[in-house]
Amino acid sequence: MVPFGDVSPAELSRARWALEVATRRPVVVLPRQPVPREAGAETDQAVDFLDALILAPPPDTFRILGLTSAPLMAEGEPVIGYSRIGERALVYSTHLLPRYATEAVRRGQARRIIVHELGHTYGALHCDQSCVMRDAESGHGLDELPLHYCPEHRAMAEEALKEGPLHPNALVRLGAERMRLGAWTEAIAAYRQALRHSPWDYKARTAMGVALMARGELTAAEEAFITASRSAPRAAQPYYARAVLYAAGVAPHRAPVFLEAAVGRDDDPRRAHRAAGILYQELLEDEAQAARHFQAHVSAGGRDPDVIARLVYLIQPTTLTFNEPETIIARWSPELGLEVAYLPPRTAAAAPAP
Ligand SMILES: [Zn+2]
Ligand SMILES: [Zn+2]
Repeated sequence: MVPFGDVSPAELSRARWALEVATRRPVVVLPRQPVPREAGAETDQAVDFLDALILAPPPDTFRILGLTSAPLMAEGEPVIGYSRIGERALVYSTHLLPRYATEAVRRGQARRIIVHELGHTYGALHCDQSCVMRDAESGHGLDELPLHYCPEHRAMAEEALKEGPLHPNALVRLGAERMRLGAWTEAIAAYRQALRHSPWDYKARTAMGVALMARGELTAAEEAFITASRSAPRAAQPYYARAVLYAAGVAPHRAPVFLEAAVGRDDDPRRAHRAAGILYQELLEDEAQAARHFQAHVSAGGRDPDVIARLVYLIQPTTLTFNEPETIIARWSPELGLEVAYLPPRTAAAAPAP
């Protein structure tokens, strides 16, 4: 764990105890760091703590906790704790906690916050069962939060605790965490380590290829995608990745074949046509193909507003009528952008033509 700015020794030892109990692992306190950015007009300052934490510990670290007495802001709201789903870092602030409380109450609070945030790092979202993953909004609501997980979230936690930091699944998540920070070399190292344990893991190999591509090692990236497809011929991801690799400049004329192959392998047609349309529009600058895929997204029942906006921009109609019993009226104007109105079946029948 890492203390940020002024943290009292008592707070530090409570958090350390709670973290040790919850993770059943020894806890090391790393050198103090300055508070990354004071909470102010910026609404997402809690992520700065997480980003600072991610690169702080040795790679075999299971979880990394930041502790501060400074206010925390996330998504525009003051928060007590913060973490990202599936990543190793969690942070909490004592700023909003009630000041007058017994030692037992304070320990209980530290434990609830830590067990809750750990739950997010194990992949849990908020929960409406009798569960520590319930959304607790204030320091007072915290005391009513149960200390235990519901059966589903307990299973999630147990799996992560059992796997530990060196399991291939954990290493793939570590790679993704580093990719998000743009630490390509460190991400590649994590993926390579995962692949030593499970060389047939096509997701890890595709992700490694993307990191190699980001670092400009295009031949090695292509090789990784080809190997991934050999391990999992029906998987869409390596084909998407190859389409992007070619489209981004290596061989644009080869991209469409791989893109169509990816769409054919994707078990979610809405997602597939959305991705393909965007790739055609943004990278390959083929508006006819882009429009075809956006239309296929809509025909498959997709109503992604971004896709509809792009489609309307490409074909510029005043009304789009779909086969389903509904009408979507969409107008595109260069000044206002997109206006969309969805008309439910009955209203659609009665609505005058625009
Ligand atoms: Zn939460
Ligand atoms: Zn739960």
